[in-house]
Amino acid sequence: MTSPTALSIAQDLLRCPSVTPADAGALGVLERLLGDAGFDVHRVTFSEPGTADIDNLYARIGTSAPHLSFAGHTDVVPAGEDSAWSHGAFSGDVADGLLYGRGAVDMKGGIACAVAATLDYLAANGGKPKGSISFLITGDEEDVAVNGTVKLLQWAAERGERFDHCIVGEPSNVETIGDTIKIGRRGSQSGVLIVDGTQGHVAYPHRASNPIPDIAALITALNDEPLDQGSAQFQPSNLEFTSVDVGNPATNVIPAQARAKFNIRFNDHHTQDTLKALVEERLAAACGNRIRARIEWLPSNADVFVTKPGAFTDVVSSAIADVTGRIPDLNTGGGTSDARFIAKYCRVVEFGLVGQTMHQIDERTPISDLDKLTAIYRGVLERYFK
Ligand SMILES: [Zn+2]
Repeated sequence: MTSPTALSIAQDLLRCPSVTPADAGALGVLERLLGDAGFDVHRVTFSEPGTADIDNLYARIGTSAPHLSFAGHTDVVPAGEDSAWSHGAFSGDVADGLLYGRGAVDMKGGIACAVAATLDYLAANGGKPKGSISFLITGDEEDVAVNGTVKLLQWAAERGERFDHCIVGEPSNVETIGDTIKIGRRGSQSGVLIVDGTQGHVAYPHRASNPIPDIAALITALNDEPLDQGSAQFQPSNLEFTSVDVGNPATNVIPAQARAKFNIRFNDHHTQDTLKALVEERLAAACGNRIRARIEWLPSNADVFVTKPGAFTDVVSSAIADVTGRIPDLNTGGGTSDARFIAKYCRVVEFGLVGQTMHQIDERTPISDLDKLTAIYRGVLERYFK
C-alpha cells in the first residue's frame, strides 16, 4: 500500500470548513490517517467560560527519545466573500498546478506535508521511528487561542510527555520555498503611560497643572533612547507609541490626566520583567521630581524566544538545501505564533509553505511546493533519526 500524498491529505482537510471554533471533521482526517499508521491518537476538548469548546489532537508513535513533534493548527480564518474566490474557499480544487482553499498555506497544506512525509518515512522503516514522532494539532490558533496549544502542552506534560524538538508548519517562507526558517520571535508587551495633572480653567493656568506638555516630553524621552542595539539573532527592540488621549471635549478646560498607549517588540536582551524595569527607570529619570506619571502594563503571553543555530537548525537547513538548493535565512522577524508556547517545552523552529496568500481571497499553493515541503520534512526525519 502506498502512502497518501500531501495533495490528497490537504484536499481532505481543505474540504472541512473549519473556521475557528468549528472543527468540521478536519481533525478526524488526521485521526484516521495517523491511527491507521499505528499512532496512539488522543482527541482532547478544552473549555473555558465565555469561549467555545475546542477540539485538539495529540498523536504519538514510539516511546523512546529523541522525540520530534510536528505542531500546527487545523482551524482557519473566515473565507470572506465566497463569490470572490476563483475556486470555492472549501473546494480543495486544483487548477493549473495550484491547490486552492482557505488554509492551503496557513496551514492545512503544511500539516498535510508533515503527515505524508511521516507516513512515507514509517513505511520505509518497518513502521517505527528510531525514537518518537508526534503531532500536536490544535483547532484554536486563529482566534482567541485559549483552548489550544497552551492547554494541549500542559495536558501532554501532565501525562509525562517530553519533547526534544518541534517543527511548526506555519508558512515561514517569504517568496520561495526554502528561503526562511523562523527560529524565534520577538516578545510583545503593551502598556499605557499615564500622566496626572490638575484640572483647571485655561484662563487660570497657574491654578492647574497641564499633563499634555508633560506627556509629550515623556513620550519623546521614551521614544528617542534605543532599548538596545539588537543581538546576534534579533533586530533592536522597539518601543512604539500608538495613541495619545486626554478625552477632553472642551477648549477651555485643562485636562486632569493624559494617557498614551504603546507596544514594545523586544529581543533576547530582555525578559518581560527586566524590560518593564528598564522602561520604568527611564520614566522616573525623565519625570524628575516634577511630573507625576506611571505605567499600567497590560497582560502579555508573548515572551521572546529563540532556538540558537546549532545541530537542530542544521538538520532542517540541510534538508532544505538538499531539496531546493537554497540555504535558508534563519529569521526572527514578524508577529507571534504558537511557537512561543512550545518554546517553553523544547527547541522549536517554524518551517512550512510560502506565506504570500495567507488570509487572502484565493489562498493557494503550488502543488510543486507541497511536494518539496514533503521531501524536506522527509529529509528532516531521515537526518533526525539516523
Ligand atoms: Zn497559521
